[in-house]
Amino acid sequence: MTLMSIRLCNNNYFFPWVEDAEQLQNRYLVVKLFSVTRKGKCSSQNGTRTRDLPNTSGTLYQLRTLTMSDDYGLREHCGVFGCVAAKDWPTQLDVAHTIYLGLIGLQHRGQESAGIVTSMGTENCKFKSKKDMGFVSHVFHEEELLKLRGNLGIGHTRYSTLGESDAKNIQPFVVETLHGLIAVAHNGELINAKSLKTKLLKHGVGLSTGTDSELITQLLTHTPECGEPNGINWIERIKKIMSETLISYSLVIMHDDKLYAVRDPFGNRPLSLGKLLPVSSMSGKKDIEDIDADGWVVSSESCCFNSVAARYYREVLPGEIVELSKDGVRSVYVAPRPEAKPPAMCIFEYVYFARSDSTFEGQMVYMVRQRCGKQLALEAPADADIVSTVPESATPSAMSYANTLGIPYGEVFCKNRYVGRTFIQPNMRLRQLAVAKKFGAITENIKGKKIVLVDDSIVRGNTMIPIVKLLRSEGAKEIHLRVASPPIKHPCYMGINIPTQQELIANRMPIEKMPEYFGADSLVYLSVDGLVRAVQEKMKTATGEGGHCVACLTGKYPVEPEW
Ligand code: SF4
Repeated sequence: MTLMSIRLCNNNYFFPWVEDAEQLQNRYLVVKLFSVTRKGKCSSQNGTRTRDLPNTSGTLYQLRTLTMSDDYGLREHCGVFGCVAAKDWPTQLDVAHTIYLGLIGLQHRGQESAGIVTSMGTENCKFKSKKDMGFVSHVFHEEELLKLRGNLGIGHTRYSTLGESDAKNIQPFVVETLHGLIAVAHNGELINAKSLKTKLLKHGVGLSTGTDSELITQLLTHTPECGEPNGINWIERIKKIMSETLISYSLVIMHDDKLYAVRDPFGNRPLSLGKLLPVSSMSGKKDIEDIDADGWVVSSESCCFNSVAARYYREVLPGEIVELSKDGVRSVYVAPRPEAKPPAMCIFEYVYFARSDSTFEGQMVYMVRQRCGKQLALEAPADADIVSTVPESATPSAMSYANTLGIPYGEVFCKNRYVGRTFIQPNMRLRQLAVAKKFGAITENIKGKKIVLVDDSIVRGNTMIPIVKLLRSEGAKEIHLRVASPPIKHPCYMGINIPTQQELIANRMPIEKMPEYFGADSLVYLSVDGLVRAVQEKMKTATGEGGHCVACLTGKYPVEPEW
């Protein structure tokens, strides 16, 4: 069948027939923009707008190239890392390599671009910087890392939102101020970016990237209204930003001989401190407090600490500013939350984004995923021969689900780790086999078996249909889907790229209809209460208080988004 489409602009296509657009689901992320009601007019959620459209009814869609992560639906935006050498400067510690290895460990948080900025830490010195599009290992080579020699530095890995995959947006951002250069790496998304942007533009500040991270960097260059009678005061400037924007950011800022690690008052994005130790002492039993530090690191996740010979030291508290220098780490401020609201760390760090070997709030992510599986088994048991998973982040949940119900756990898929991120679009015949390209089937564990398949989340549902089809074609007798998190129904305004509400499967159909839609025998999600219980049961925070954002599940945001 020939597809009827008319290209308009910016990948916007007009389809007189909806089915035409639906046929493109395997090749593109198909986003419905407008329904055309009559010539020259189209209706959107925001009202009616005039557009130059053909003289026929139909629908305007935007086609975005589909990537592997789009296929799954949720994307973390960034990972940040910083390192400062202790003891005498110039240091023998290889700061640039340490940051590079840190970013390799954070690669799962952003795969479109990477950057490192280092400094010798002397007053008004020049920064050295290397930033580019691509994986960390593609951006940095030995010679470049040698040129980045310094006593301290920061790094960043990034995903972009739509239309921002551009070299000018690569972090860390560096700007020149009256008081020397500053560099900023940011993870998160400012919920009131629009009004902050207006404020900066009114002050005559020109913005070149359209990113929140540039807003933060530019806000830092502003002198507070009270002035700075005793000279530049970066801590006061950071405090001012924290009072103006409450969520969502984890920042690493470099100026002169110091790094500042900053977490928003709600602690929405994670940030951990690590102590760099002599490699010879890594395997010893000595308390890390008793070992002299080679340096200090700060990272979005602690999973990369082992690879740089660092030990987990502690988390940066929600609202805290920590100063890192060659003399050690020092807490300088903790911002209050309005109306004494609880913290709101993103619960999806536990469910999906973070690596299983990271630690947040005194507990390993792996253990929390196990508890989610146990809770799911209590809430939604199934009679089955085997429990399995869609590799890989749901594996601890699936094993724990199996263990709780006394059902054997086994693998039904073998993942091809070398598929790559971007799809080269094959012809229609091979496109229909897209899932088979990613997963091979372990037929002996499937044929004639009643299978429980545990996944960590279902976002658009695009991937689940071919997965179930693959199990059926390999002879599965029954397929029971269990999801170790609740249905995602609402957008995220805090740094996670969740598809539009219309694209989310939980908004497109009632849960009762999903088994039939996926071709499964049953489907049950973990409850919101069950997820929160699994996360908070063994949580140990330094202040004793904890709390989590569940806004994409409930629609209740820690801070109301700005429209
Ligand atoms: S809305 Fe969802 S994804 Fe976004 S911060 Fe909250 S829990 Fe995380």
